[in-house]
Amino acid sequence: CKVHPKHQMVLCCKKCQQAICALCTTKEHEGHGFLDLEEVYTKKYKTRTEEIRRIRDEFLLNSRLRLKESRNATLELKGNLELMRNSMKEQASQIKGLVDAILTENLHDLHSYEASAVEKLEYQEKVLDTYVTHVQDTCKLEEYKNSMFFGNPVEFLSGISDTLDVKFEPIPDVQKLSPGNFSEGKLNKEEIRKQFGVLTKPSNET
Ligand SMILES: [Zn+2]
Ligand SMILES: [Zn+2]
Repeated sequence: CKVHPKHQMVLCCKKCQQAICALCTTKEHEGHGFLDLEEVYTKKYKTRTEEIRRIRDEFLLNSRLRLKESRNATLELKGNLELMRNSMKEQASQIKGLVDAILTENLHDLHSYEASAVEKLEYQEKVLDTYVTHVQDTCKLEEYKNSMFFGNPVEFLSGISDTLDVKFEPIPDVQKLSPGNFSEGKLNKEEIRKQFGVLTKPSNET
């Protein structure tokens, strides 16, 4: 005991809630009421130990469960956002794919009528080419006939007609073909956006 160094503190004063010695009960703490210190200690220790166990059971266990729940919520959110991201990319590639398909169809159509138009025009060229060759050959032949009588006026007068005995069909007309027309559609980002889809932001409480 601090007040009575020769005496051991073995009691507990009920009124002052402190450890005291036997001598104290007759001095400063007289009439306060006393308990066995060891008993008080054991009881208090037990009470606190139980309290710690109760906290461990109730709060530690449950807060760990909450932590796990929170981690799962994070993973779930990330997973869902990833799914949305992939879905958007897929949709974008679908739209690009559709544009590519439309381009391919149009190029195919253009190519098919280009082929028949070019075929027609090449035939026309061939007809005119044949015509040109025919006129050229005729001129050469007649020049050759003339040259046969060069320096021989007597035979030239009697042996050959005054006018050329040649007839030509009318020169074929040139036919031009229409290339058709490509009128560009008006691009509208908002329309494409509608077709792409709408991202709705969540209304999470902060
Ligand atoms: Zn004392
Ligand atoms: Zn006391």
